[in-house]
Amino acid sequence: MNSDTNTGTDVLVVGAGPTGLVLAIDLARRGVRTLLVEKADRLFPGSRGKGVQPRSQEVLDDLGVLPRIRAAASPYPRMLAWEGSERRHEWDMMERSEPTEQVPYADVLLIPQSRTQELLHERLVELGGGVRFGAALTGFRQSADGVEAELSTGETVRASYLVAADGGRSTVRKALGIGMTGETVDPRPMLVADVRLSAAALVDRANWHVWPEAPGGGVAMCPLPGADHFQLIVAFEDEAALVDTSVEAVRGLVAERTPLAAADVVEVLWASDFRARAAMADRFREGRVFLAGDAAHVHSPAGGQGLNTSVQDAYNLGWKLGQVVRHGAPAALLDSYEAERLPVAADVLGLSTRIHRAAAEGEDTRRGGEVQQLGLGYRDSALAVETRTGLAEDALRAGDRAPDGPYGPERLFDVFRGPHFTLLAVGTEPPALGTPTVRTARLDAYEPYGTGLFLVRPDGYVGWAGASTDGLADYLAAVGAAPVPAVAGA
Ligand SMILES: Cc1cc2nc3c(=O)[nH]c(=O)nc-3n(C[C@H](O)[C@H](O)[C@H](O)COP(=O)(O)OP(=O)(O)OC[C@H]3O[C@@H](n4cnc5c(N)ncnc54)[C@H](O)[C@@H]3O)c2cc1C
Repeated sequence: MNSDTNTGTDVLVVGAGPTGLVLAIDLARRGVRTLLVEKADRLFPGSRGKGVQPRSQEVLDDLGVLPRIRAAASPYPRMLAWEGSERRHEWDMMERSEPTEQVPYADVLLIPQSRTQELLHERLVELGGGVRFGAALTGFRQSADGVEAELSTGETVRASYLVAADGGRSTVRKALGIGMTGETVDPRPMLVADVRLSAAALVDRANWHVWPEAPGGGVAMCPLPGADHFQLIVAFEDEAALVDTSVEAVRGLVAERTPLAAADVVEVLWASDFRARAAMADRFREGRVFLAGDAAHVHSPAGGQGLNTSVQDAYNLGWKLGQVVRHGAPAALLDSYEAERLPVAADVLGLSTRIHRAAAEGEDTRRGGEVQQLGLGYRDSALAVETRTGLAEDALRAGDRAPDGPYGPERLFDVFRGPHFTLLAVGTEPPALGTPTVRTARLDAYEPYGTGLFLVRPDGYVGWAGASTDGLADYLAAVGAAPVPAVAGA
């Protein structure tokens, strides 16, 4: 493991869910000493966050995980509504789109969260990292110099930074006294389970089957790729219902509310109950401690935003920690994490709540571009520096996602892939920078970018844009990518 608890570590990451795993991968490829601790003795076994959105696919592409995710995933199946044992109608939950030059991954992928986590873990191990299972964070204190944390194993870990990726019930957030502000989206409980059905069961694996009018509350069964089981979701109309997650209770619910028999449920691999909430931590940072993923915001599962927003928190924070720890960037760079991610989380929270409530009202809940997270950006961030003037209303500018496109025999995403910044010159010559953390690239013309110099951050957003190098040296210094001798004299 790329860590040493006796002498300390650069970053202590608490929780090996999707957030902690993505962050640990990003830090590992940056050579940041990281200890990832997980209180459970294995990765989470359930399918819950099963939709990987296009923007997350781009993140996973950069981290070297996407080919195996795509191999293990499937497109979202068409929904099929039943009334008892009668098939009624089919529809697409997601608007389907074709890949374009700028957006290579157009559709959401279906893959159980447990499989995503296994593949992330595999990648982390490949990079020399790993998870310390069976090690819960039990307490910590911080000073101006670092964080000292206690683990359930009796160890004390000293780290420069601590990242709480410990889920919605975050121990770290509570210990810091950071409140969660939000609301119950729906007071009615739901049961979510992974079930294996008998081959003779009425449902096939070609559709996502729903019984919207089932007595007591709707039922859905989604076939999961790479496995022979389904994700079962059972809604309860009664707010006071006590949800029993035992195998017998799950079988009973299926028999009561669908034409399947109790015996058709051959195995219950995982079951849990929850009430949809939308809440956000009042702050995402306290000194040297950061909150990321569900520790910072919890959503309704409607719209499939939770895992995706969590992955992007980690991706936003990873390069900043890397630049500060490894490249001497000013610690102020870390302020931009909360400044950038908190407004995004707030928007996403509103979106999932709207989708959840529309679905509960039986309205059209077909999901379009707003759930793909491709349009999210950081134009208002202090890290978005646009020095060109007179731009058209729809021009790409600092803060926007850097689109993909052809680059000789390759793609721009091939050029961006890795922990570095990229200075992309379109219709102009790139300066000689002489800094190993910034690569340069040049295109004669590419309309989605317009003309100019575009500094693409390691997380795929345009950080700085200019018609000349004026101001670039200051920007690079602020993100730990100086010295830049050629630019300093420009
Ligand atoms: C029914 C359901 C369906 C969902 N569907 C979707 C979907 O389609 N798309 C989507 O994007 N999201 C979905 N989500 C949300 C998604 O599952 C979460 O947003 C995601 O798991 C958050 O990841 P995380 O790593 O932040 O937290 P978690 O996955 O909760 O991981 C936190 C980890 O921290 C560990 N931990 C906790 N405390 C400690 C401690 N003190 N010390 C050490 N380790 C600790 C836990 O054991 C856990 O492994 C769904 C959620 C539910 C419940």
